[in-house]
Amino acid sequence: MSGAPVRRGGPPLPSTLRELSRPGRRASGFATLDVPEAGVPGDLAREGRPGLPEVAERDIVRHFTRLSQMNYGVDTGFYPLGSCTMKYNPKVAEATAALPGFARLHPHQPEDTVQGALELLWTLERSLCEVTGMHRATLQPPAGAAGELTGLLIMRGYHTKNGNPRSKIVIPDSAHGTNPASVTMAGYVPVHAPSDARGLVDLGQLEKLLDEEVAGLMLTNPNTLGLFEEEIEGIAEAVHRVGGLLYFDGANLNAILGRVRPGDMGYDIVHMNVHKTFATPHGGGGPGAGPVAVVERLEPFLPAPVVAHDEATGRFRWDRDRPDAIGRVHGFHGNFGILVRAFAYVLAHGHDGLREVGERAVLNANYLATLVRDAYPLAFPGRPMHEFVSTARPLKAHGVRAMDVAKRMIDLGFHPSTVYFPLIVEEAMMVEPTETESKETLDAFAEALLRVAREAAQDPELLHDAPTTTPVRRLDEARAARDLRVRW
Ligand SMILES: *Cc1c(COP(=O)(O)O)cnc(C)c1O
Repeated sequence: MSGAPVRRGGPPLPSTLRELSRPGRRASGFATLDVPEAGVPGDLAREGRPGLPEVAERDIVRHFTRLSQMNYGVDTGFYPLGSCTMKYNPKVAEATAALPGFARLHPHQPEDTVQGALELLWTLERSLCEVTGMHRATLQPPAGAAGELTGLLIMRGYHTKNGNPRSKIVIPDSAHGTNPASVTMAGYVPVHAPSDARGLVDLGQLEKLLDEEVAGLMLTNPNTLGLFEEEIEGIAEAVHRVGGLLYFDGANLNAILGRVRPGDMGYDIVHMNVHKTFATPHGGGGPGAGPVAVVERLEPFLPAPVVAHDEATGRFRWDRDRPDAIGRVHGFHGNFGILVRAFAYVLAHGHDGLREVGERAVLNANYLATLVRDAYPLAFPGRPMHEFVSTARPLKAHGVRAMDVAKRMIDLGFHPSTVYFPLIVEEAMMVEPTETESKETLDAFAEALLRVAREAAQDPELLHDAPTTTPVRRLDEARAARDLRVRW
C-alpha cells in the first residue's frame, strides 16, 4: 500500500469512515419524544457508547461512491480474465430477478403458492439437460466448486451402491485448482494425468493410470488450456472400461454451447457455472450457482429434494422421497435469484442465440490470439476455442515478466488477463475475451498488449513501476499473503 488514496488534482482523501468522523455529526435525526421514556434494563445496557463513526449522509454517500469508482467490473470495461468468463451481463436478467413475484418469495411457502417458481426451476433444469445432453440435474450447489463436490459425492454414492466407493480420481495436470481440492474434500486421492506436447490428455499415459480403484476422470472439454480434447471418445471408453465415470467441468460451457453436448461425448456428470456461462455478474466469491446434471443411471443419487412434475394435473411439487440421494448440499433450494437470471438468459437467447454465444466466444478468442501472437506466442500449437494461453516468455530477455505486462495494462485502462495459470505454462497469460465484446474493443486491447511488448524492449522500468495511475500501486503479494493484516 503506497499511502492514502489521492484524488487527481486534489488533497488526499480520508480512507475510512472512521477518519471522516466528527463528534456530533449525524446522518439522521429522530423526532422529539412524545411518549414516556423507557430505559433499557441495566443488565442489557452497554457500558459505553458503541464507537460508531459520526458522519453526515453526504459523507457516507461520497465515501461509498468514491470506493465504487475505484472498482472495475464488466459494466466498466473489458475484463478478459481467462477461465473466468467475465462477460457483459444483459440487464434483462437483473430486471427479471428483481420482479417481486420472484424476489419476495419465501422458501418455506406452501407448494400451492409457488407453482410459478417451481415451474421455472423445472424448466431451467430441462434446458440445462438439453444443452448438456444429460437426463436430470440438481440446482442446489451455490458455486462451481460446490458443483464439483456434489458431482464427486454422486460418484461416491454410485460406486458405494455397487459395493466399493473406490479411492482415486484422475485429473489432468492443467486442471483448474478447484478440481484437486474438490477431489480431496470428497475423500478421494487426486492422480495427475500428464498433458502431451499438444496440450491434450495423453491417452496412452492415461490408460496406464486407470484401474479398478479409479472412481472417475475429471476433464473439461475444451480443456483448461482452451483446447478441444480430440480423443474424447477414446478417453471416455477407457474410463468406462474400468467402471469409472467421466466428469465434465462445465464452468465455461460457453465454448461449446449449442454445438456439441458433453452427454454425446460420453460424459456422465456435468457441472455448469451459471454465473459464468449464463450471465450473472460474479467475482469476489459469489453469489453463484453450480447446477450438476447427470445421466439416467446416476439420477437416484442427486441431492434431494428435486422438482417433480405431475403430467396429469400439471402441478409441480418437491420430491423428497429419494432413499439413495447424497443429501442436501445447500440450504433451501440453492441461490434462487441466480437461477432466475440464468433462466431469463436462456429464454432471451433461445436455441439459435445460445449457439451463437458459443460461436462468437470462439471467434473472438481466435481473432485476438491472431492479433497478438507475434509478441506473445501461443503456448500450444492447436487452434484455441473460447480462450487462449500465450506466454510472455520472449519479454524475459528484457527482464520483463507476465506480471509486469498485467500491471502495465491497468495503466492503459484494461483489466489484465489471467497470469501464471495454468501452472504448466511458463509466464502464462490466459485470455478469454468472451462473446460479448465488439471488434473495436478487441482491436484496442490487442494494440495495448503490443504497445506493452514494445515498451518492454525500450523502457522496461516503465513496466516494473506499473501501475502508476491507480489509487493503490503495486502490492507486495508475498507479504500480503504472509503478513496478513486485515484491520486498518
Ligand atoms: C471458475 C471455475 C471453477 C470454480 O467455480 P466457482 O464458482 O468459482 O467455485 C471450476 N472450474 C473452472 C474451469 C472454472 O473456470
